[in-house]
Amino acid sequence: MTSEVIEKFRQDIGSVFSTTEERMLARKSRDFHWYSPVLTPQLQHYLADVVVQPQTEQEIAAISAAAAKRCIPITVRGGGTGNYGQSVPLRGGIVLDMTRFNQVNSVESGSIRIQAGAIIKTALTAALGTGQQLMMYPSTLQSATIGGYLGGGFAGIGSVRHGVIRDSGMIQSLKVMTIEENPEILTLSGDDVGLVFHSWGTTGIILEAQLRLVPAETWIDCIATFPTYGETIAFGNAAFASDLDLFLLSAVEKRFAPFYKRTRAYFDGTRDAMFSMVNEKDVDAFFALAAEFNGVRSMAVSETERANANLRAIHETAFNHTTLMALQVDRSWTYLQVVMPDPFEPDLAEAQLERFGDEALMHHEYTKEHGRPRIGGLPLIKFSTEERLNEIMRSFEADGCIINNPHIFKLEDGGRFDADGRKMAFRKRVDPMGLLNPGKLRSID
Ligand SMILES: Cc1cc2nc3c(=O)[nH]c(=O)nc-3n(C[C@H](O)[C@H](O)[C@H](O)COP(=O)(O)OP(=O)(O)OC[C@H]3O[C@@H](n4cnc5c(N)ncnc54)[C@H](O)[C@@H]3O)c2cc1C
Repeated sequence: MTSEVIEKFRQDIGSVFSTTEERMLARKSRDFHWYSPVLTPQLQHYLADVVVQPQTEQEIAAISAAAAKRCIPITVRGGGTGNYGQSVPLRGGIVLDMTRFNQVNSVESGSIRIQAGAIIKTALTAALGTGQQLMMYPSTLQSATIGGYLGGGFAGIGSVRHGVIRDSGMIQSLKVMTIEENPEILTLSGDDVGLVFHSWGTTGIILEAQLRLVPAETWIDCIATFPTYGETIAFGNAAFASDLDLFLLSAVEKRFAPFYKRTRAYFDGTRDAMFSMVNEKDVDAFFALAAEFNGVRSMAVSETERANANLRAIHETAFNHTTLMALQVDRSWTYLQVVMPDPFEPDLAEAQLERFGDEALMHHEYTKEHGRPRIGGLPLIKFSTEERLNEIMRSFEADGCIINNPHIFKLEDGGRFDADGRKMAFRKRVDPMGLLNPGKLRSID
């Protein structure tokens, strides 16, 4: 974009906050793709030409209209915690930072309506204030936005109870703005919310989400430890199949202990562990079941006890926070995303552990899909070369695992984009000039 076009755009949007200050452009052009030594050299140099931070629907409409008039790319951004460069502006242009568009519009029995730029914790707090809670949230709840989670996320804390986002019924409706000189606002509900979910901001600007709420429960942060990783997985499978009310089941092998500094008293590297959030009524039954697999009760703390003891919240030790804790200690690790075969036999966990030796540390998250366990492996991988990373992926596949490669930045390569072509048709409808997040769609860019 020439600076002249950008200046004209800034004049068009009048009083809407915009900046071309270099540090801000750099900061808002990055996300967590640095987890990947493959993506980092490919994406780190891209830069927006201008960052805008609207506060109202009218301001977002002014940005959309001016971008369409001047044919400037728009990359929508929430908290910038995506791992695949989803909010990196590959063609420069506008980064539309939604974080000042962040109001809770209403909380009713069974649902919340909230602006897309609100931090997820804001939604959870508002729901808890009415005796309700979100069905799930990512471990980045304190920094990620509602729009970013729906645009870029997949599952999270709560997915073992309610399923992954797409089949959980969590998204009741979405308000979406088109990119046109006269922008429209569309309201999607039912199956149509899938046109925008996990589209990386390529199928419209999410303005507002209506999310289903469920009655709030008291969750206890629990750690059970086991002599072997196979027994940890065998317990996880049994716990999933039981009547226990669980909000998180996150298995890590003992070699993760050096990264879990604030829980060292409970996970010291001598035994493998299941990190869980358990309904307070089921805590004793949870540990009784663990005992059947030689598990022992290591920790069970309420939110208050945890805060008083300055322990890290269990939900911030799971999903990609586990990876983050390792990277904070040693940047030579990277990771993979692996869907384990169903059923996931403990023997396979042990065999993979042995096969990869010091090159991979095992971590599995239990989620649910169509009522069945969907166990996601997020193994840490000691990075050497891209070729070796690819070999490791093929080795997992040979075991019947499915790889969702986190070292890619094209939406289709993640394997969940547009099976029936409806998303692409919708994209043409909402963004006829193809200005949204260009460069992310292999089929058209
Ligand atoms: C430590 C760590 C832990 C994580 N844990 C989880 C987890 O438990 N579960 C999970 O699913 N993911 C997880 N992630 C990935 C990521 O945090 C989540 O997907 C998160 O919800 C993204 O929100 P965000 O606001 O940061 O989005 P961003 O990174 O800003 O954006 C993500 C995508 O959504 C698009 N987008 C943002 N806002 C809008 C909008 N208003 N309208 C349309 N599109 C929009 C962007 O263009 C981008 O393509 C984790 C990442 C890290 C670094």
